[in-house]
Amino acid sequence: MKRIIHWFRRDLRISDNKSLYAACRDGDEVIPVYILSSWKRHHPWTGTNRQEFLCGCLRSLAKNLEQIGGRLILRSGSPVKELIELAKETQADAIYFSENYAPYDRKIEERVQKAALAKGIGVQLFKDTVILAPGEVLSQSGQPFRIFTAYARAWHRHRKPEPSPKVSRIATPHQLDSEVMPTLAHWGLKPEAKILPAGEKAARGRLKDFLKSRIYEYARRRNDLCSDVSSRLSQDLRFGTISPREIYASCKKASEECNAVERQGIQSFVNELVWREFYFQILWHFPHVLRQDFRDQFSSVQWDQDPDKLKRWCEGTTGFPIVDAGMRELNATGYMHNRVRMIVAMFLTKDLHLHWRHGEQYFMQKLVDGDIPANNGGWQWSAGTGADAAPYFRIQNPWTQTAEYDPHGGYIKRWVPELRDVKPNRLAKPPEQKLAPDYPLPMVDHYRERAVTLERFRSGAAS
Ligand SMILES: Cc1cc2nc3c(=O)[nH]c(=O)nc-3n(C[C@H](O)[C@H](O)[C@H](O)COP(=O)(O)OP(=O)(O)OC[C@H]3O[C@@H](n4cnc5c(N)ncnc54)[C@H](O)[C@@H]3O)c2cc1C
Repeated sequence: MKRIIHWFRRDLRISDNKSLYAACRDGDEVIPVYILSSWKRHHPWTGTNRQEFLCGCLRSLAKNLEQIGGRLILRSGSPVKELIELAKETQADAIYFSENYAPYDRKIEERVQKAALAKGIGVQLFKDTVILAPGEVLSQSGQPFRIFTAYARAWHRHRKPEPSPKVSRIATPHQLDSEVMPTLAHWGLKPEAKILPAGEKAARGRLKDFLKSRIYEYARRRNDLCSDVSSRLSQDLRFGTISPREIYASCKKASEECNAVERQGIQSFVNELVWREFYFQILWHFPHVLRQDFRDQFSSVQWDQDPDKLKRWCEGTTGFPIVDAGMRELNATGYMHNRVRMIVAMFLTKDLHLHWRHGEQYFMQKLVDGDIPANNGGWQWSAGTGADAAPYFRIQNPWTQTAEYDPHGGYIKRWVPELRDVKPNRLAKPPEQKLAPDYPLPMVDHYRERAVTLERFRSGAAS
């Protein structure tokens, strides 16, 4: 009788789950376990919205496992200790799990492997979070890519793995202790935002819905803030309620059945999946990005410390309608459109001169899709300090961005109701007087702050 533990991490699904599939293939009995970590309440990069989504994912996963004869075992504490104890308790032969790429996760993986080896328990790791793993896509000289276009070209040349079949039967040993299914109260938290439904079924529904029509318009309309055509799959990719392989395979199939214009939409969407993997490999090869700028020539740039400015940015009361709409969308839903993420990030770093680290942290606290590689990549891109980042002198103007991407003001009015009666053209230029009695004047002059940023980056880079 062979028993295998499958340790669920950010792969909370039963379809196309390489590790779970292998565990069910190799083991007579499989113990599917999720370990709730105890530090989540304290770390500045954790937040209520992601915990709430996680609770929903676990509920859905437990139900899905039950339907195929299994049972999700929940434990909490240190993964190393819990996994080894569970292996002893069940006399498991091996522990299978999917690899993660952030430095903290890699350390845990190493410790699990070491502890298991010492006890004679086998360990197998699987690639699951990404289509192509960080070490797979390298330059001809074997070096990691720092420029996206070169990385993407190489990524497209690689053969892609096929999704694995859905697990249809799983036998979990009886009489194993499991903690109760967590709710937010488990961490002493209360709901903060109206987030999307969680779980494998919800994720699959979002993909299906996106593939019906929005994907074909993606290239043309993805920056149209009012009628957002994007997939809304980011939290599903973050928690693994759907696999990137499956999304990619669906895109490939759809592109065989459509015309050239529609195919452009699909290609543009796939390009975003490649950006996701680009940032995974940046973090894997250059873990220092979590502590400092990717490009160290900007390490002497002067940043301000101003808690009041940061607070106005976080609350969405800067007096810049597009920035405030984005921040209020984030606070209300745990999500923000990609274009607006760029606008608010540039505003924080280039108009308020606050370090990108403040924004990175606030996003991690609020985003349901908060994911270390993409978030760090997005912030360093916007600040001009990252891999293949926007050059520091290309500073987005929040007023012209509004005119271009929210010309009728629909997005702004949805999130900043004080401005509902203001004519759209007034939302796209600096106002001479208040736009509404209860809406503030812009807290800074964009044109003046732009010049300050240029000067700071020029002198910071030179020193
Ligand atoms: C400052 C900043 C911070 C960000 N933080 C995160 C984060 O914490 N987590 C996160 O998943 N994305 C992050 N992004 C990237 C992007 O904004 C979101 O992935 C996207 O808005 C999610 O919406 P969607 O699923 O509808 O995306 P779609 O436009 O439908 O794209 C499909 C998928 O591709 C990936 N993707 C899209 N754009 C990017 C990108 N620029 N970089 C990396 N992956 C991308 C996501 O997984 C996304 O779900 C950030 C971007 C910026 C500028």
